[in-house]
Amino acid sequence: MQQRNSIRIELPDWIDAVLAARETCGLDETGRMRLVLDLARANIRADLGGGPFAAAIFERHSGRLVAPGVNLVVASCCSIAHAEMVAIGLAQQRLGYFDLRQAVPGGCELFTSAEPCAMCMGAIPWAGIGRVVIGARDSDVRAIGFDEGHKPVDWIAGYARRGIEVTRDLLRAESAQILREYAEAGGAIY
Ligand SMILES: [Zn+2]
Repeated sequence: MQQRNSIRIELPDWIDAVLAARETCGLDETGRMRLVLDLARANIRADLGGGPFAAAIFERHSGRLVAPGVNLVVASCCSIAHAEMVAIGLAQQRLGYFDLRQAVPGGCELFTSAEPCAMCMGAIPWAGIGRVVIGARDSDVRAIGFDEGHKPVDWIAGYARRGIEVTRDLLRAESAQILREYAEAGGAIY
């Protein structure tokens, strides 16, 4: 096997076309989640191995998109390439700060089409994200067979103690519908 000394996780080319066709600045809360759900749908259309998940980092005060993310586990052959992790890593590298609080006055927020799994839940605080906004619930994700890992039942209270706000159920029905459509179309479950 060829030895690699780097990790390469690259967003697909269609991302730019999807974003070019819509507003990415000054979005209200629903607009931010709609952008994320559009990316999740596009990720399924592009490749059933892509997974029905998307996320994005926004500047909290302006609603400007900092970085999008889609699930790229299969495409990049890398289990850490969940949508939230991709959006976080891209935002950090675009802005040049691993702690996003230092990069953006007023902080950043992460919008995600589905509740973060155990890995992403653990990673979010290290990125300096001030708020997480979630579409589908953990139970919606597990209902189509994805493993979310072991999460403390009081993880939202744990976030609150760190000063991270969590808002759930924003466009939940629409987000859960995307998950079901993916499963019904025979998308890979991992
Ligand atoms: Zn995850």
